[in-house]
Amino acid sequence: MTQTMPIDGKFQLMELPYAANALAPVISEETIGFHHGKHLQAYVNNLNGLLPGSPYEGLSLEEIVVKSDGGVFNNAGQILNHNLYFSQFAAPKADNKPVGKLAEAIQTQFSSFETFKEEFEKKGATLFGSGWVWLSADKDGKLHITQETNASNPLTKGLTPLLTFDVWEHAYYLDYQNRRPAHLASLWQIVNWEEVEKRF
Ligand code: MN
Repeated sequence: MTQTMPIDGKFQLMELPYAANALAPVISEETIGFHHGKHLQAYVNNLNGLLPGSPYEGLSLEEIVVKSDGGVFNNAGQILNHNLYFSQFAAPKADNKPVGKLAEAIQTQFSSFETFKEEFEKKGATLFGSGWVWLSADKDGKLHITQETNASNPLTKGLTPLLTFDVWEHAYYLDYQNRRPAHLASLWQIVNWEEVEKRF
C-alpha cells in the first residue's frame, strides 16, 4: 500500500478531501471538527513526541504500525486508521454502491451487497469496547471482514485494508449518542467506493 512518510521527522495531520460539513447529516460538522481536528491531531502530536531517539525514526507510518508496540503502536495505528477512514468518504448519495472489481468480489463472496452490509454492520455493532471493523483483502484478493480492537489495523495480519468504520464512541456520540448500529447503517450513504476500489 501507499507509504506515508514523515516530513522533517514529523507526521502531518491529513487534509480532509471534502468540506467539514460535506458529510452531514450522516456525520455532522461538529463531529468532524472534534474527530479530525482534536482526536486525530492529538494522535499525530503524540506520535511525533515519541519518535525522536526511538528505533522508528525515519520509517513510514505503515512500517511503524507493523513493527511497533505500546504507545508508539497505539498512536501510529490510530493515525493510519483515521487517514484511511476520513479519506474514504464523500457527500451523501442515495443508492450508493461498490464499483468495479471490488463490486464483483463482494457479489461473488457475499452473494449480495445487502448480505455484505449486514455482516459488516453486525461485526461493528458487536465489537465490545473501542475499535474498528474492517474490510480488507489478502494476497489472493479474497475479502475479509475483521474486528480490530483499539488501534489495530489488518496490516498487522498481512492484509490490505480497504474500508473501515470507526466504532470508538468519539466517532458517533455527538450525533447518535449510544445508537451505534444506527450510525453504522447510515455510513453506507457516504462511502466513496471509487476510493475504496483503488485500495483493492
Ligand atoms: Mn476515531
